[in-house]
Order: sequence, then structure tokens, then C-alpha cells
Amino acid sequence: MKALVFEKYGGPEVLEWKDVPDPEPGPNDAVVEVKASAVNYNDIWGRRGAPQEVPLPHISGSDAAGIVTQIGDAVTDVKIGDEVVVHCGRPARGNKEGEGQQYNIWGYDWPALDGAHGEYVCVPSENLAPKPTNLDFEGAASLPLVLVTAWRKLVHKARIKPGDTVLVWGAAGGLGVMAIQIAKMFRADVIAVASSDEKLELCKQIGADHVINRNTQDVRKEVRNIVGRRGVDIVFEHPGQATMGLSVQMASWNGIVVTSGATSGYEGQIDLRHIFFREVELVGSTLGTVFHLQESLDAVQAGYIKPVIHSVLPTKDGGEGQRIVEDDEAVGKVVLVP
Ligand code: NDP
Repeated sequence: MKALVFEKYGGPEVLEWKDVPDPEPGPNDAVVEVKASAVNYNDIWGRRGAPQEVPLPHISGSDAAGIVTQIGDAVTDVKIGDEVVVHCGRPARGNKEGEGQQYNIWGYDWPALDGAHGEYVCVPSENLAPKPTNLDFEGAASLPLVLVTAWRKLVHKARIKPGDTVLVWGAAGGLGVMAIQIAKMFRADVIAVASSDEKLELCKQIGADHVINRNTQDVRKEVRNIVGRRGVDIVFEHPGQATMGLSVQMASWNGIVVTSGATSGYEGQIDLRHIFFREVELVGSTLGTVFHLQESLDAVQAGYIKPVIHSVLPTKDGGEGQRIVEDDEAVGKVVLVP
């Protein structure tokens, strides 16, 4: 089979579309013919070899949708011909709530397995979930990692409820477009922040009630204009260093800042008085289990959440897909088709 491989760390130019051995399933594994995969930020961390090195040679890719073509002897939960999406977390199940477990991510720091950017993948069958029947493979492949992360973060960690005001950073990015739709499903009031009017137009189309252009407007001032001095109930945080201090300042009394990323750097500065005087909760959240993915896919199947796709490229051009994400051009997800 062919896959997008890198043998040394570097820019998109280190990626090569080349022959690699076909995957062989172990007793509990399934082989999936990849109909589509997606680009995530961890593909870029992996290819750069920073902040964490990945084993070389490496095939990235933490999202895939496709058709099961082989199963191991002990597999009973899927069968050949099933249309599936892959959940990227190990352990896939663990305790159902996903609490207190350290995840490895398929295609990134799960060393035994190659990722999704090839023609076939081999994963434990417990990592598979049925593809929603109302989506094509490209739409389905664009969802799992960002959907499960945004779902657990808002629903289970931030305990979102009707009437909450939710501020979403990076609102036109992979996590952001999921967060907007989940928050609207819960009848929250959504403030979307992004860096261009084009991105904000998309945010409005998928349900954002208010939009702020962080390049041309003062985010804190605009938030005050929208919610008054009270602040927002939930801040959906992931840019990290560049925004964390402001996120904490903008949270309401008893508000929650829920964070799952650090795109701009790890060392966010916080004025702690905002945490203790106003009893703001700072909550960490990462990925989720296959149970959280199934819950969120039910919301997809019911029509509450839809894929948002920036572009579809051949997998062999995955380097260009990564560049689009790295240069912050993506409005939604970049999808790759072998
Ligand atoms: P995307 O690249 O799709 O979107 C990120 C968004 O962040 C961009 O659209 C950009 O929006 C915004 N952004 C970038 N820099 C800044 C900045 N300095 N200030 C404010 N906003 C900024 O990435 P994802 O949404 O897929 O992922 C976001 C982060 O979350 C990544 O770091 C990723 O690794 C992490 N992540 C963590 C997971 C976990 O389980 N812990 C799971 C999934 C993702 P704009 O420029 O328009 O404002």
C-alpha cells in the first residue's frame, strides 16, 4: 500500500508518498480501507519532532473513516464491510468517564501503530465506531478527534447548560466549529472569536450568536459590550499562552475556563486574583473515550452537528494540507483522500 511517510523531522517537504508494507491484523485488530482521513495539529507537532519526538519513520493521521476489510480471530464487535470511523485514543475505553487516564494518540504518540495518512490502517477493533449514516466518508473523517475533544470538554467537563454564555477561541478551527455547534445544541449563547471576517462569517452560518475579530477588535471590550461586566460562563480555551490570561479575566463569577491545548505556547500568565476572588474554575480536558465519541456521533446522526470542511486534497498532498493548518488558513477541517 501507499502512505505519506516521513523519515526525518522538518517542514512539509519531508513527507513522501511511498510504498509501505500492508498492515496485518493481530487477534483483536481490524484493517480498515481508508476512504478519507483528516489533518490535525498533532500531525504538525509530530512532523516537526517538537515539542515531542515521534518514532521514525512515521505515518501521521489521527482521524479516518473507511470500510473494514480484515478482522483478527478474536474480533466480534465489527465485521468485514462495516463502514466505520476510528477513535484515536488509547485506551479507547478505560473507565467510561475517561477520568484519570493518560491517552496515547493514534498517529502521534501511539508507537506501535501507523496513522491514518495511507491507503489502509490497522487498529484495535474497540477503537472503531459506526460511521453516521447521514455523512459521506469525507465528512465522517473530519470529525472524530475534534468532535470527541470538544464534546467531553463542554458537556462533561464544563457541564454546559441552556442559557450559558460560551466564548469560543479559534472558532473557525477544528475544535472551534465543533464547539459552536455543541453549544448551540445545548441552547447556549455563543461568542465566536477568530482572526478574519471570512472565518467569522462561517461561524455565524453554523450558529454563533456574536462574533469578534481578534485582529481588528479589542476582544475584552467587545465581550463586555455583549455580556456586561458579568463575564462569560464558559471559556473554550486552547490557543494557550496568547489567550489564557484574558480567558480567565473574561470568565464570570463561578465561570469555567476549560482548556485542552496550547497552540501559541505553554506558559500562559494568569492574574490569580481572578481565580480566587471570583471563584473561577480552571479545568483541563483532553480527548475522551470511545463512549464520548459515540455520544457525540449520536448528536451528529440526529443532525445537531455537521462537518465543516475547508478543503479535500489527495493524501499524497498531505504536506499542503498541513501547511494550510500550520499557516492558520483553515476554515474548518482539511480532509485527505488516498
Ligand atoms: P486548528 O488549527 O484547526 O485551529 C486552531 C485555531 O486557533 C485557529 O483557527 C486560530 O484561530 C486559533 N489561534 C491560533 N493562534 C492563536 C492565538 N495566538 N490567539 C488566538 N487564537 C489563536 O486546531 P484545532 O482546533 O484542531 O486544535 C487547537 C489546539 O488544540 C491545538 O493546539 C491542538 O493540538 C489542541 N488539541 C488538543 C486536543 C486534546 O485532546 N488535548 C485535541 C484536539 C486538539 P484564529 O487565528 O482564526 O483566531
